[in-house]
Amino acid sequence: MNIVNRNILIVEDELKIAEVLQSFLKSKGFRTFTAENGREAMEVFDKENIALILLDLMLPDISGEEICRTIRKKSRVPIIMVTAKAEEEDLLEGLQIGADDYIMKPFSLKELNARIEAVLRRSSKDLVPLFRKNSYNHDDLYVDFESRTLKKKQKEVNLTPTEYKILAALMKYPGKVFTRNELITIALGDEFLGYDRAVDSHIKNLRQKIEDNPKEPVYILTIHGAGYKFGGESST
Ligand code: CA
Repeated sequence: MNIVNRNILIVEDELKIAEVLQSFLKSKGFRTFTAENGREAMEVFDKENIALILLDLMLPDISGEEICRTIRKKSRVPIIMVTAKAEEEDLLEGLQIGADDYIMKPFSLKELNARIEAVLRRSSKDLVPLFRKNSYNHDDLYVDFESRTLKKKQKEVNLTPTEYKILAALMKYPGKVFTRNELITIALGDEFLGYDRAVDSHIKNLRQKIEDNPKEPVYILTIHGAGYKFGGESST
């Protein structure tokens, strides 16, 4: 049972354009979120279960390129860059820093829709772990996926096997929102389906062990109405 996520984040400072995009995408069955600048974009992205980002490059605070780099440190979420720049070099740079596609202003809504659907189709097929390394080492958190050891502030922390499996799944797919059922299946197997609230207590214990302040977690984020995702940076 897979409920397809059709949440799109529109990052656009020109309100007229944002409105047009919003009403068009709604008519195509998407749920839209909007952000006028980079700061808002990151806030919405961290809080919501976003399936795709439409990212304008020219923004008032930080550039679209910078937002793309920041998001790529934590997520493989599909990004389509919307650009007025016509230079081929700029477009190549966009793809190099992790955009999945780009579209040039002015564009037709029909073309935009085709690109969105194509990128979503591609990304639903290959859910690849962003994080392929054998260990995670960022800030004060260290996890060795081979020996299954975890250190917080250089001190070894003991995780139960279930806690470890949940954490490893979240970390290996940073930015992907896992439903409770998905996490239970990963950690305990299919026969435990139906006890999905049990995940919450494992998450609570994990937060006690790895977060500086479990009440304001930065590694394991709650996405309301959806589940959990890893919020830490994953690139080196
Ligand atoms: Ca703009």
